[in-house]
Amino acid sequence: MASLETTDAPEERKLKAKDYAGPTARWCPGCGDFSILSTARRLLEAEQLMPEQTLFVSGIGCSSRFPHYLKTYGFHGIHGRALPLALGARLRRPDLNIFVVMGDGDCTSIGAGHWIHGVRYNANMTVMLLDNNIYGLTKKQTSPTTPRQYVTNTQPQGSYLEPLDPLAVTLGVANASFVAQTADWIPAHLLATLRAAHAHKGLSFVRILQRCPKWTPDIMDAKVKLPHEVQVLEHEDGIVDPKIMKMYKNHLTHDPSDLDAARELCAPSGWTRIGLFYKNESMGVYDDIRRSPDISPDGKLREIEAEFDRYSI
Ligand code: SF4
Repeated sequence: MASLETTDAPEERKLKAKDYAGPTARWCPGCGDFSILSTARRLLEAEQLMPEQTLFVSGIGCSSRFPHYLKTYGFHGIHGRALPLALGARLRRPDLNIFVVMGDGDCTSIGAGHWIHGVRYNANMTVMLLDNNIYGLTKKQTSPTTPRQYVTNTQPQGSYLEPLDPLAVTLGVANASFVAQTADWIPAHLLATLRAAHAHKGLSFVRILQRCPKWTPDIMDAKVKLPHEVQVLEHEDGIVDPKIMKMYKNHLTHDPSDLDAARELCAPSGWTRIGLFYKNESMGVYDDIRRSPDISPDGKLREIEAEFDRYSI
């Protein structure tokens, strides 16, 4: 992790995006992760999140190198386990801004159990799923989001199964409270989405369509080159950015409080939909439910002694 040393007192600090930059990122040229990383730095600047109050947690994969490239705290964890690590940090440190970065192989395959229960726990954190439809780091292996019949190195005759839709799965989990989709090549929308996700209390799940020019160039390229196939979800309670509305002509009015409508939007349609699918601020937040009452050191000691007394003979 890069140094967090600062010289100014917190009240005098005004950080710029470049102040959050760690070492030079090592991804393939043209990788969508670069855009997501620079947008994350812009988010940190826009929200003035202090590096020592901010934690990025990741699993394993190309995108999971993310914490190395930011001058915040970071935890590059193990495959599929970013969410339990982040939940542990959340429960001990209610003051931190917590972001979780996972790839599709990491989150939707080996980490699928943690994904489902992480959404259900609805702890306060922003989850970024960088979905490039492939295992990139292990050189073009089929992932759960790889399109059917797509040729990969593990299924050279074409992927056998229909892909899993991360939005549909998340929307099917009890207690889901914020579900959105955006894309690395639309940085204004990406930034607006991450700001809305960070502002939400509870677990915000943001699927980011991510270009992988090394292994799946054709999949996302088609979406980048065909902006008329992008449909922007529009609502006063959604992610509103007039610039995006101007850039993309196809809009769909969608009330993000309507869960059934959000689920219907996940059905195959030919559209690449971006925006806020669902938001519900009344769901129980795990860190509130499990928060221990504030207690003085003397009070803690009394509780421990009382606990020991239960076992005295
Ligand atoms: Fe990015 Fe794909 Fe290269 Fe990984 S393999 S760094 S996802 S372009």
